[in-house]
Parts: sequence; structure tokens; C-alpha cells
Amino acid sequence: MGTEAVDDVDPIGDEELYERLKTYEGRPTAAPGIGKDPVNEPMIRHWCEAMGDTNPAYTGPDGIAPPTMLQAWTMGGLSGYAERSGAYDELSALLDSVGCTSIVATDCEQEYLRPLRPGDRITFDSVIESVSPRKTTKLGAGHFITTRMDIRVDGEPVGTHRFRVLKYAPPKAGSASRRQNESHPSRRPSPVINRDNAGFWDGVEEHRLLIQRCADCAELRFPWLPGCGGCGSPRWEAVEASGGGTVYSYVVMHHPPFPAFDPPYAVGLIELAEGVRMVGNVVGVPCDEVRIGMRVRLDFIKADEAQELPVFRPLVDAATAAGVV
Ligand code: ZN
Repeated sequence: MGTEAVDDVDPIGDEELYERLKTYEGRPTAAPGIGKDPVNEPMIRHWCEAMGDTNPAYTGPDGIAPPTMLQAWTMGGLSGYAERSGAYDELSALLDSVGCTSIVATDCEQEYLRPLRPGDRITFDSVIESVSPRKTTKLGAGHFITTRMDIRVDGEPVGTHRFRVLKYAPPKAGSASRRQNESHPSRRPSPVINRDNAGFWDGVEEHRLLIQRCADCAELRFPWLPGCGGCGSPRWEAVEASGGGTVYSYVVMHHPPFPAFDPPYAVGLIELAEGVRMVGNVVGVPCDEVRIGMRVRLDFIKADEAQELPVFRPLVDAATAAGVV
């Protein structure tokens, strides 16, 4: 054995690897399946309630299923489906073997050919549609894998669901991004700041909680988005929240533990006085005393040397504090 560095030697050349990846295209990811339940009104109702979708097209005896439920009818639930093809696992293992050990879901596309109605009994099959050539992304270099599921009723196509993941090589030890993480071993994950939400984080730096207001219809929105959900306008202005709010809902995190977080801690969905909701830690109170409806006030904490974060503290009611009930 020589002493030459073996780290950078790719066991499979790029071209040969791509040839091998292409052989998975068209292979099934699972045996053809039958929906566990026919399309049905209770599932449609639960979906609409969860999504807040009040479209009358989805109710009543002639109602249809919301098109975006397409994938829901194919889901196996906790019991899953018995048969699973090995092709996807093999493809995954092949990419692991060349260092693409990380995975992230990137996007989903659906096509609707006709509405689904209660009573429709769906069948589906799923194939690996394509594997991309090697692409360089901000996360690392890797390959996009697209799976395509075709959904049918009585053999007639009703829709297609495509799901794409990126299998990529995480940054190697010694690379710039890895070094940055190592110098802050317990650092919290940093927020992803982009042109659509930079104004929010600029506000946080000045200890101001900024929400967006549509410049056309005045609808408030949070979190920050490039367009208005009410009228679609891309024009907006930032307004400063008063800082008052109530706990709309919350969870107390015990598990799993994440580096830089010290469980248990309370994560609240806070309804701001302005009416929009945001997620933030509820601090300054034992986790088991956090309650829905609790009045809170905005504060800012220095989570680490690089990161300020908005948090919420229970508002101490003057009467309660004085012992007067
Ligand atoms: Zn608007």
C-alpha cells in the first residue's frame, strides 16, 4: 500500500456512476397498491378543517375531494403496505457508497386529470422517474431523484404525484462550512435569511418585531412572504408589532434532544395583538405552567454570541402580582 491520500479518489468515475444511476429510471419503488380506503367524506372533512379550506365544492352530497389530497388517498398509514421494491433502497445505497449520504426533500408536483369523489377506489403505482446528473448545490454536490406515482380509478388515470429529493455529499471535515460549525460546537441552527425575510431579521437586530402589511389591501402577514395571501400583491410595508400577545397553542419539547437546546422548553404559537401568529419560545415560566390563552409580552434574548431571538414572557398581571384576585 502506498501512502497517497485516498480521500479524494472516487471509487466510481462520475460517468460510470451516472450510467449506473440511470439504470434505475423506470424501476418501480413499490408494488402497485390499492388505496386503503375509498375516497370518503370524513377524510375530506378532516383535511378541509386542518387546512382551513371552506370551499363549498368539497362539501355536500355532490362534493369532490380537494385535488391536493391526491397523495393522501395513497398513504399506507402506520401499518403501511406489505410489498416494497428494493430498487429505491439499492439506488440509495449506491449513492451512499459514493459519499452522498445526506438527503433532503426538495419539491413535489401534482397533476390532476379529473376530480375524485366519495366512493372512488384508487389504485396507484410508483416508479423512479429520473435521476439527475451530478449537480452542485449550496448544501453540497449530489443527484436529484424524482419518483412518479400514477393514480387511477377503474384503470383510468386521475392524477400524478411527483416527489423529488436531493441525495448529496455533506461538506467534508476541513471545508469552510464544516470549520464554521466546529468553531461553534453548541451553536443553534442559524435561520435561513434570504431576500424575502431579511427585513424581519434586520428588525430583530434592532429589537423590533416587524410584520408585513400588504400595501394594496392592508392585510397583515407573518411569517414574511414575497406576496399577499389575500390579494396577491407583491407590494408591502413593514409595521412594528406592539409586542403583546397570547399563547394560541404550545408544545413542551422533551425529546429528541438537539445540540444547543436544553429540554424541556416550551415552544409557543403566539397570537400577536395585531392578529397574526408566530412561533417562539415561551420563557421566564416553568414549562408546565404555560397555558393556552396566557398573556405574553415580546422580549429578545441573546441565544448565543451570533444570534438574537424574539421570545415571549408571561405578562405579569398587576393584580396577580399584588396578590389580588
Ligand atoms: Zn393584499
